[in-house]
Amino acid sequence: MDFELTEEQQQVKRTVRQFAEAELKPHALEWDEAQHFPREIFTKLGALGLTGVIFPEEFGGAGMGYVEYATVIEELARVDGGIALSVAAHNSLCSNHIYQYGNPEQRKTFLPPLARGEKIGAWGLTEPGSGSDASAMTTTAVKRPGGWVLNGSKNFITHGISAETSVVMAVTEREMRSRGVTAFIIERGTGGLIAGRKENKLGVRASETASMIFEDCFVPDENLLGERGRGFVNAMQILDGGRISIAAMAVGIAQGAFETALKYSKERQQFGKPISQFEAIQFKLADMATQIDAARLLTLRAASLKDRHSATTRESAMAKLYASEIAVKVCEEAVQVLGGYGYIKDYPAEKYWRDSKLCTIGEGTSEVQRLVIARQLLLQ
Ligand SMILES: Cc1cc2nc3c(=O)[nH]c(=O)nc-3n(C[C@H](O)[C@H](O)[C@H](O)COP(=O)(O)OP(=O)(O)OC[C@H]3O[C@@H](n4cnc5c(N)ncnc54)[C@H](O)[C@@H]3O)c2cc1C
Repeated sequence: MDFELTEEQQQVKRTVRQFAEAELKPHALEWDEAQHFPREIFTKLGALGLTGVIFPEEFGGAGMGYVEYATVIEELARVDGGIALSVAAHNSLCSNHIYQYGNPEQRKTFLPPLARGEKIGAWGLTEPGSGSDASAMTTTAVKRPGGWVLNGSKNFITHGISAETSVVMAVTEREMRSRGVTAFIIERGTGGLIAGRKENKLGVRASETASMIFEDCFVPDENLLGERGRGFVNAMQILDGGRISIAAMAVGIAQGAFETALKYSKERQQFGKPISQFEAIQFKLADMATQIDAARLLTLRAASLKDRHSATTRESAMAKLYASEIAVKVCEEAVQVLGGYGYIKDYPAEKYWRDSKLCTIGEGTSEVQRLVIARQLLLQ
């Protein structure tokens, strides 16, 4: 058992940290205020291989594993949770669904532009009436000569407007419930695919979240992704990997908030000494650092298992549950350490707190993670 990143993994960490400090930090607050999704950042991330971290080089990817991927997402989130979420949804949801279940032609056609950051990906599972109970979706795909006609809508989709390539789950055999869902690849510009409303969010505001509407949207047969009727099952398998990225995002946000609090506590003087000299503040910092370490270890364990092709349903859910819950706590404590300055936007603490909350909701809420973990325990 080795708890250290390899030299190559540390190099990845340093590179992404430098990138995030130089390219994200100066703009993070401005993007947050304006709720601006900086498309151009994807081109820069692509040049570093960060839009295709987990895909082989033959598909335009960086050929790295989940440990590196978790490291990348953590470092982006340490500076901007919104960009980390966008990169995560692009890599481990949309692109990975195509990589894992696409046929050779689909992989060759759709993956390289996504992996290189030339195109942005979206992954549509959630609907207005079906979130945690995703198999209750109502978007339908009906067979027609040469393809399928989709009708319905998806809700809260990361890059729901900007995506050039989307993976969308739809009901093909209603009576089969979760065994009657099929995945489709839909390209921007397809007739009947309508960009919906962009949401005005609490946090991760640099990441675009929007609905997608399908009105008699014709998708050719060659864009059916994976086996017919396996779309829901495959989506759950994709979430096992995706949850590692949300755990890493939570760790990164918590780490950024902790560093902000630590620095501030050494600078802020009250009662004639730095507030870091008060035991009440020291204990907060000690708890924050311990929780972040534990969350990072759970996340890297899940990532490492994934790299060894082991099942990670339980470990991914545990990492996501724990990391996201402690991230919210750590960020709240960071606001407390900064006092009144924690509550205003001149300091980053309040943004970390707002951004952290998404981690307990996206890719399955904390309650759903507990259900997943309990089911795994009861299987034994
Ligand atoms: C910023 C953002 C980005 C997102 N990006 C995407 C995306 O790219 N693609 C995508 O498909 N989706 C995306 N989502 C949707 C996200 O995955 C869902 O919001 C999430 O799964 C919860 O679904 P819901 O919002 O419908 O909540 P609901 O399922 O309605 O849950 C409401 C509450 O009920 C609880 N609950 C529900 N069922 C149970 C149960 N059985 N037992 C106990 N408690 C339960 C939940 O935990 C929650 O507290 C995104 C969401 C956000 C906010």
